Amino acid sequence: MGELRTAKGDLHLDRVTKRFGDFVAVDDLSLTVPRGSFFALLGPSGCGKTTNLRMIAGLEQPTSGRVMIGDVDLTGSRPYQRPVNTVFQSYALFPHLTVRENVAFGPKRRGESGAMAKADEALALVQMSHLAGRKPPQMSGGQQQRVAVARALVNRPEVLLLDEPLGALDLKLRREMQVELKRIQTSVGLTFIHVTHDQEEAMTMADTVAVMNHGRIEQQGAPAELYDLPRTRFVARFLGQANLFDAPIVGTDGDYLIVENAGQRFGVKKSRSTVTSGTVSYGVRPEKLRLDETEPTDLRPNECLVGPGRVTDVSFTGVSTQYIVEVPGFPPASVFEQNLDVDPIVTHVGDEVWLRWNASHAFAVAPEE
Ligand code: ATP
Repeated sequence: MGELRTAKGDLHLDRVTKRFGDFVAVDDLSLTVPRGSFFALLGPSGCGKTTNLRMIAGLEQPTSGRVMIGDVDLTGSRPYQRPVNTVFQSYALFPHLTVRENVAFGPKRRGESGAMAKADEALALVQMSHLAGRKPPQMSGGQQQRVAVARALVNRPEVLLLDEPLGALDLKLRREMQVELKRIQTSVGLTFIHVTHDQEEAMTMADTVAVMNHGRIEQQGAPAELYDLPRTRFVARFLGQANLFDAPIVGTDGDYLIVENAGQRFGVKKSRSTVTSGTVSYGVRPEKLRLDETEPTDLRPNECLVGPGRVTDVSFTGVSTQYIVEVPGFPPASVFEQNLDVDPIVTHVGDEVWLRWNASHAFAVAPEE
């Protein structure tokens, strides 16, 4: 079984199901993670992310289906036989050993020569050489996290699994470590599979994001692709904010489907709709909406307009301001406007406004059942 540790290639989950008694935690899931990519498994609590990761690590066996790297079948093999290591949120460092000894622990136990040199190399990668003599309790959470990564990298795995590794860190450190982990991944060129329920974290770090829900993958793709073109209502709402209203399709116009709501018609590109007849959830991202304080008279051919509505909330966030606007016949809309002016907020709660957007930015997905 020794050859398993050196398996190389893309990671495949092939129709994997995991049941705990009657409960299906992972449901007939297939997935390919390209070798050397930074891949995020994103989803709400309980959707099966960790179970998936544990099956890749060999800590859990699938009820059915296969786990492969390249054409090597890992299903049934023990964790230590797999070219896979896991970094947990809890770090799991030995408090009585120095950082260097912690990192050298695995290679030493396996009787490998040059364990200390390997540890030093891994510590240099995570930029922790200067703290090699410290013990974990004398270090910050972020530093301990780097050591935990070094301890996994020293085993030279093909695939590094990260299970909510930044969950215990405060927001600022979390942001720093997101950049740092991405840098480490790029420099070592290993496959990283990162589990998180934080959509911003997944989008910032990963080349590819797979959005999980109820043990299945709803959609997988580059972050910008998932954000721009969600294919389900769940993905539209889980990644960023989406203004959605349900409306029937009432016709077509060239490349566009036409939907009707509150007596008005709106276009959505056929290629940006997963539904071609019946009712859709019509969606526009908040930054794609524009506010007008008077009824606009300069609409372009592709622009949609609703109003007048009322501003019910204004939140200044620094870079942008978020407005909540209520237009009769529509759910409250969220609008982000970038703060480019010295005094950016000219619209206030209670003001009358119109909302417009370019139909080419809209998307449509199946409504909730
Ligand atoms: P979180 O973000 O909260 O960690 P998750 O997406 O990682 O969630 P999992 O830990 O994979 O979710 O759990 C998926 C589902 O399977 C949950 O409903 C959980 O309760 C259930 N589950 C996980 N492990 C077991 C087990 N050993 N026995 C029974 N049920 C389990």
